[in-house]
Amino acid sequence: MRVAVIGAGVAGLVCAHRLTQAGHACDVYERWPGLGGQAATIDVGGGHLLERYYHHLFTSDRHIAALYDELGMPDELEWLPSSVAFFLEGRSWPFTSPLHLLRFSPLSLRSRIRMGVAVLRLQRAGDDVAPFERMTARAWIRDAMGAEAYEKVWGPLLRGKFGDRADDISMAWLWGKLTMRRKLQGKESRRELLGYPRRSWEPLFGELRRRIEAGGGRVLIDRPVKRLAAAPADAPSARFEIVAGAPGSFRAGHDPRAFEAAAEPPERYDAVVATVPNDVFAKLAGPGLLADSYLALLERIEYHTALCLLLELDRSFTPFYWTNIADPELPFVGVIEHTNLISPVRYGGRRFLYVANYLAPGHELLGLDADALLERYTPGLRRINPGFERAWVKARWLHREPAAQPIVTVGYGERIPPLQTGVPGLVLANTTQIYPEDRGTNYAVREGTDAAAALLSNA
Ligand SMILES: Cc1cc2nc3c(=O)[nH]c(=O)nc-3n(C[C@H](O)[C@H](O)[C@H](O)COP(=O)(O)OP(=O)(O)OC[C@H]3O[C@@H](n4cnc5c(N)ncnc54)[C@H](O)[C@@H]3O)c2cc1C
Repeated sequence: MRVAVIGAGVAGLVCAHRLTQAGHACDVYERWPGLGGQAATIDVGGGHLLERYYHHLFTSDRHIAALYDELGMPDELEWLPSSVAFFLEGRSWPFTSPLHLLRFSPLSLRSRIRMGVAVLRLQRAGDDVAPFERMTARAWIRDAMGAEAYEKVWGPLLRGKFGDRADDISMAWLWGKLTMRRKLQGKESRRELLGYPRRSWEPLFGELRRRIEAGGGRVLIDRPVKRLAAAPADAPSARFEIVAGAPGSFRAGHDPRAFEAAAEPPERYDAVVATVPNDVFAKLAGPGLLADSYLALLERIEYHTALCLLLELDRSFTPFYWTNIADPELPFVGVIEHTNLISPVRYGGRRFLYVANYLAPGHELLGLDADALLERYTPGLRRINPGFERAWVKARWLHREPAAQPIVTVGYGERIPPLQTGVPGLVLANTTQIYPEDRGTNYAVREGTDAAAALLSNA
């Protein structure tokens, strides 16, 4: 088959790799002038690559670890001790070991013990999400940990991540976060280990591209799909036709209808796998291609946008890798000091800090440029580190990812669009279908493999 894969993120590249292994030639179309999608890197200078958005792996991320092995890159992943803190009541509270929970004095001793016991119980409750699908995280937390734990810790964290949808978030989502990823065993029960590839995520994408091309495929960056339609009747052997967008279309935003068409004629394919967000898929599908019932599923899932400011600093900002912000007055949800996980020595002594946010579409912070955002964030950054000065900032990069976080509300499992779109030979595989786990590169690897299998079973 001649297959088009739309999107060169992890899911798209893995899917094309699997189809190549099965003997099919794939053309991968990518809007961005680089590979990796949400895990894409930027050149931060000095020959160093860094992800646009903070990235690490958990020891439970076995699909991506297996992919590194399969591709002959077993030494690429390095596992390093993590350090986590909560910022509230004017200071950062270390939260790296169970002992830190006992010393977490913003909560009464009774609430601390309830919280620890509730998490342990959840982790031992088995692998079935079903009991948690019909309740909100808020209801479960208040019941299992008490109102104080919700008001002081979990409520602010959920509001930071989901804004005004926080109270509707399904317990299935929190269950996934607390059990599937965070079940720490052996040495890890004292200190969690996190994974990071020695040379960033980029070599993984390069190796997948090499294998797709060696199998007769093409990986086309800065070449988005503008429109996907059924092939005209004069092309009896091909099912689909793709109109590409002109180079530089990414500057027009994410809506494929806004792209100028490429000068080349449309290309025809026997099958298509789309790995783009639901709204993008609905917009690039030509009229009548998808059934109304499938389009309705695509429309029902909401996303929040990731707004991520990456700062190069001339010194360390916190003693922690990851600081969760549980203070509702701070206008961001986390600070992630990458060079507290990976030694600054790797970057010639340079230090990198991500300031993380998740926002509903249309939020006013999404309209600010990097300098204006830094200005807005500076008082909050000073609350965490009172010495912080703009002069510490040597460089900054700002990225926005509109479809970063699907909003997993109660009953989400029943609303997921299936991989099979109902159109023979057309499959959709994206982060909305990762459930009950929270999306991540590990699950994008699994999704890419599943998408290839779904296509081959129904092409
Ligand atoms: C702030 C943030 C932090 C994260 N942290 C982590 C982490 O620590 N660990 C982890 O494992 N995961 C993390 N993730 C999640 C992880 O990056 C994603 O789950 C994963 O990369 C998704 O892969 P995907 O291929 O499904 O989707 P995407 O990466 O979104 O790929 C979709 C691709 O389609 C392309 N595209 C869009 N429109 C078109 C078009 N019209 N034509 C052609 N191509 C198009 C996009 O440019 C993109 O490359 C994070 C994500 C964010 C936003």
